[in-house]
Amino acid sequence: MERVLAYELARYIDQKVKLRGWVHALRPFGKLNFIILRDRTGLSQILIEEKESFKKIAHIQVGTVLSVIGKVVKSEQAELGYEIVDPLIEIESLVKDPLPIEYNKPEMNVDLEFILDHRPIALRNRKLQAVFGIQAAIAHAFRLYMHDIVRATEYFAPNIIGASSEGGAEFFNVDYFGYTATLAQSSQLYKQMMVGVNERVYALMPFFRAEKSTTSRHLAEGKQFEFEMGFFDHWHEILDVQEYCIKYIVNYLHEHCAADIAALGGQIIKAPEEVSFPRLTFAEAQELFFQRTGIDERQEPDLSPAAERELCRYSSEQFGTDLLFVTDWKIEKRPFYSCPNSEHPSLTNTFDLLCNGTEITSGGERRHTYESMLEGLALKGMSPDNFTDYLSIFKYGMPPHGGFGMGLERLTMTMLKLKNIREASLFPSDTKRIAGNRIKAKIFYGGENIRGEILHLLKNAEMEFQHLLHEPTPTSEDSARVRASKLEEGVKSIILRGKQTKKNFQVNILAHQKLDMKAVAEIIGEKCEFEDPLVIKERFGLEIGGVPPFGPLLNLETFYDEGITLSETVAFNCGLPVESIVMKGQNLITLVQPKIGKFSKN
Ligand code: ATP
Ligand code: MN
Repeated sequence: MERVLAYELARYIDQKVKLRGWVHALRPFGKLNFIILRDRTGLSQILIEEKESFKKIAHIQVGTVLSVIGKVVKSEQAELGYEIVDPLIEIESLVKDPLPIEYNKPEMNVDLEFILDHRPIALRNRKLQAVFGIQAAIAHAFRLYMHDIVRATEYFAPNIIGASSEGGAEFFNVDYFGYTATLAQSSQLYKQMMVGVNERVYALMPFFRAEKSTTSRHLAEGKQFEFEMGFFDHWHEILDVQEYCIKYIVNYLHEHCAADIAALGGQIIKAPEEVSFPRLTFAEAQELFFQRTGIDERQEPDLSPAAERELCRYSSEQFGTDLLFVTDWKIEKRPFYSCPNSEHPSLTNTFDLLCNGTEITSGGERRHTYESMLEGLALKGMSPDNFTDYLSIFKYGMPPHGGFGMGLERLTMTMLKLKNIREASLFPSDTKRIAGNRIKAKIFYGGENIRGEILHLLKNAEMEFQHLLHEPTPTSEDSARVRASKLEEGVKSIILRGKQTKKNFQVNILAHQKLDMKAVAEIIGEKCEFEDPLVIKERFGLEIGGVPPFGPLLNLETFYDEGITLSETVAFNCGLPVESIVMKGQNLITLVQPKIGKFSKN
């Protein structure tokens, strides 16, 4: 029997069909029991009337893969309009463990970090599925637009290259057969070479950027839409291509992704076809920001995030579009290949496109003569020796040309009004994660490594301390005894979990104190519970008795009870239940920099 998909059921009323998919929910009501089944097109409902038949499968967990043969009937009650009755159920892949994250709820209502910790499973959530369905459609629409409308040629540039493509410090080096290579920050140099070949070119390229600060809009790895064209009468033609490109993509999404957009509550930017994106020069943009807010950033070389948001608000209020161009940027803020403006050489023929408050694209006209390129490199203090291949194209004829680079994740985030770019990357990399996984650097993971790092920090800071080896100490009293210190000097380090967000925190109190869960809930903003020792072992490589008051080394937001700040001497386990450190309370605070409050009752 051939498989039928959930969205086809209407065509099979009163017929027998075979469905295959994942158990999305089990709804036992005694007489009437339901299985909700998920396939790639949506959900379907299966009715099991007999208690006995339901009992046979009641042990299965969400995620179990089933094959179901049954009759399709129309049902007024069923939310989905149809249901399968008299089912013959076969388990294709049994799941015995309960879900680590409730992806089958419409709203997971947990912290983004928790979602990322369970990424492979969390991605099955309907909303996340919609985000990445739309992301795929964005990429497809970009290619259609470039191929069919602009008639540009797709190119495939290398990702391991010899020198940094954009200059600056934000690149990764890799060992390349004993030499040092760089991971491409963009395919800028290659797309210009390809203009010499095909005039109009585009790509969807990986990029790698060693962004050291953590923001809500930067990733260490992502994808970039690249476009470059030769021969134009005015460089603003590049902006035209960019503008139509965005409108094409938005139209495409409305036409092909209506269900996904609806799943996200209709949250998508406005870019009506008949409204041109406003084009302001950088100077005009600064002036407008000043006029609208009274905040004077007119001497700044760059737009602040607040200014970017305000400019998009202006565009939305005045014109009903969420996008806006800022052109004519100062030369010191743009890369060496940017073409200076012929009338104002301190400015460049460049632009950024802002979308819903954030930059999504940078682009512009490039220098196109050999002499001008050398001048551009010299201006930035860069050596032409690293760019021999690239420079050769300007010796052998390059037309006036330019283009843009647009981040796929940035575009997805801003188009769908997501709060954090990590929501728009399947397996995001940043300073704390590689491909979605928390970086378990040695200093962060496992008792020995954490102890080593604490000793290293203490020695570096030239602080006095005692490092004690002793028997394991199950209670605070035992600890005080083997350390020959007072009970009131002991620090208890507790790892908590937010009940709602599932986020971990560390709270530290003195050994004779009791944790005041109400006070904790207040400062953290939600009710908390103790994290499971097995999870602590798994996640941090620590035994409960070894957890040190150095939450930041575990990547945890860390709180100290004010009692600790008043304690002259403090003693604590430094990663292992059999090792302690005794030191000055003030020094500990200086090293850890915790948030301080009152979380204890005596
Ligand atoms: P920003 O100023 O936001 O750090 P940028 O000006 O350094 O970005 P460009 O070199 O102009 O970035 O890159 C072109 C586009 O690529 C950006 O407009 C953005 O959409 C995307 N992009 C650049 N860096 C990142 C990053 N670290 N994470 C995600 N997207 C990025
Ligand atoms: Mn930029």
